[in-house]
Amino acid sequence: MGFLSREKKRLSTVKIRRALVDGLLEVSREVHPREFIGLLRAERGVISEVIIPPFSIYGLGESSFSPYDLPIDPSLVGSVHSHPSGDPRPSKQDVNVAFSFGFVHLIITYPYSCHENIYAYDKEGKPLKLIIIE
Ligand SMILES: [Zn+2]
Repeated sequence: MGFLSREKKRLSTVKIRRALVDGLLEVSREVHPREFIGLLRAERGVISEVIIPPFSIYGLGESSFSPYDLPIDPSLVGSVHSHPSGDPRPSKQDVNVAFSFGFVHLIITYPYSCHENIYAYDKEGKPLKLIIIE
């Protein structure tokens, strides 16, 4: 559907709005040291909105939610959550549970200060290149 585009270096790219990047960094800072979790919505191929699921749980460990609690919505393309530990790598649970929904997943790492603290992965946990759109 053209949402993920292959580049020469075999790293797929995903586009995100600058305003959303800033908002995600801000909410991650606000809930720290707890973990923030949300779902991503795309508009015309650009991730532009975050949805906070009604059953999301903020905790000191891994947050969790069940994608099966959500209505089927084709504009929802994946998930986002923060890693207060600062480790950008997806955990086993991330890949097995959170990443099972949709096809692009963001991990926002402490100290949540700029876009370099945001990492994008596909559903297998392989890195994606994040392109910020003004
Ligand atoms: Zn995680």
